[in-house]
Amino acid sequence: MAEAKTRLRIVTPSKELYNDEATMVIMRGVNGDLGVLKGHQPLTTILDYGILKIKNGEQEKEATLFGGFVDVQPDAVNILTDSAEWIEDIDIQRAKEAKERAEKRLNSKDSNVNMLRAELALKRATIRLNSKK
Ligand code: ATP
Repeated sequence: MAEAKTRLRIVTPSKELYNDEATMVIMRGVNGDLGVLKGHQPLTTILDYGILKIKNGEQEKEATLFGGFVDVQPDAVNILTDSAEWIEDIDIQRAKEAKERAEKRLNSKDSNVNMLRAELALKRATIRLNSKK
């Protein structure tokens, strides 16, 4: 029997990353990892920074996902996120440079530096780099 599929849509401020069917979606919510199949009870939650996994039949895809919000319905999952990209599209050099920039800012004594912003940038760069290993 064919696996039951839900509709998954992932939108960032700059693009629609995914708009297709999925048999399973695994994402990192602020309260822990969340796996969703078709028929899931309605749920909304805030997303953490992490890796999102999509299974669609035999196919599997992984993307980074940086925060935002998910609305789960029995036949649809809608994700609005600040930033996301497919693992295979990650530019390692760019992530390394972002990590160095963030570390420099965090180590500086400059009171104009927004430390929270630098910490979040460091977290994004680290997740991007680790996702390739
Ligand atoms: P940077 O300082 O390099 O821009 P960032 O963490 O501030 O990194 P984001 O705000 O998360 O970048 O992302 C802005 C856009 O650039 C998004 O579309 C994101 O998918 C893309 N992006 C950021 N870093 C990379 C990367 N290393 N490889 C591929 N795409 C990236």
